[in-house]
Amino acid sequence: MPRTIKPKLPPLLERKLSKTGQTRGADDDVIFQNRVSRSNTVLIPFHQWQANPKLRDMSNQFECGYIVLISPKDYFSIKKPSDYFSEFDLALGENALVFYETRADWETYFPDNYGWTYANSRTAPLGGQYVARVPANTSIDAVRSQKVNLGYATQSLKGAGIRLYEYASKKTIKECRLQLEAIFWLCVDAVNAMANNGMSREDAKSRKLLILKEAQKHGLLDFEKLRSKRIINSQNHTICPLCLKELSGEEFLNRLAQPEGREVPDLTVTQVNLFHIEELKYGAFNHRQYNLGWGCHFCNVVVKDSGIYPTLSWMQEVIAKNKETGYLK
Ligand SMILES: [Zn+2]
Repeated sequence: MPRTIKPKLPPLLERKLSKTGQTRGADDDVIFQNRVSRSNTVLIPFHQWQANPKLRDMSNQFECGYIVLISPKDYFSIKKPSDYFSEFDLALGENALVFYETRADWETYFPDNYGWTYANSRTAPLGGQYVARVPANTSIDAVRSQKVNLGYATQSLKGAGIRLYEYASKKTIKECRLQLEAIFWLCVDAVNAMANNGMSREDAKSRKLLILKEAQKHGLLDFEKLRSKRIINSQNHTICPLCLKELSGEEFLNRLAQPEGREVPDLTVTQVNLFHIEELKYGAFNHRQYNLGWGCHFCNVVVKDSGIYPTLSWMQEVIAKNKETGYLK
């Protein structure tokens, strides 16, 4: 039987969906990689590793491995660091690094004094014992005020890895993408919107059908579950998880109007963004099939890392106070 070929999506939507499999942006002065696959090497703070046996048990499942980071202060407060490390299945330079983040630590525990080199590999051996991201400061001493970016700082290797909570396996990334496209097609006007944006109506209809079927074949698209997560409404139309407004397919493609005087030329923020139902938490993986929906850009900004319900009670307080004071009728 010939395989059914799926008609292509408009490039802007295709890109939006692919980007869901990537981590958020990061600049050169931080230890995280910029917009890479969520299946990349995971960075784990030592305290988390130490406190969480479940995390240690599952660590061999990270598809591109992990690196545990410890501050110099913590490292040197341990009496016999290598013995202590081996109790936790850690070895400096193999799956753990000392991470310098402050000027004081950089000067107090200067790595050259221990014969250490900076690491540059994300797989064992890591090629060194430490990594440094010490910001510049305003000291009068020119040398002492310069920023220190050592380890994973060259063009092709920027950033040591990704945040633990951003991690997802390749399979999860694929399923999330599929579910997110299916949710897009549940927008009340999705077929029309795609027909207005470069797809033929027949192609749009056929892709919608194929994606919904494929999602169901993978055990996804459980409508009841999607409703309970505020991702779709009782008519099975896609809604914003905060304001509950039905989303239009057009909003996935329209770029956001930018405030005058503050335009950024290559801004690709659209009116609808990827929306995490449960907020980011260390120790929990938030890129999960039923934790992802689509929502208004502004609602997303408001909820950010605080979560939907805490945001709603905050809003309630704001409204109540404004009414009480007479600013709002
Ligand atoms: Zn909204």
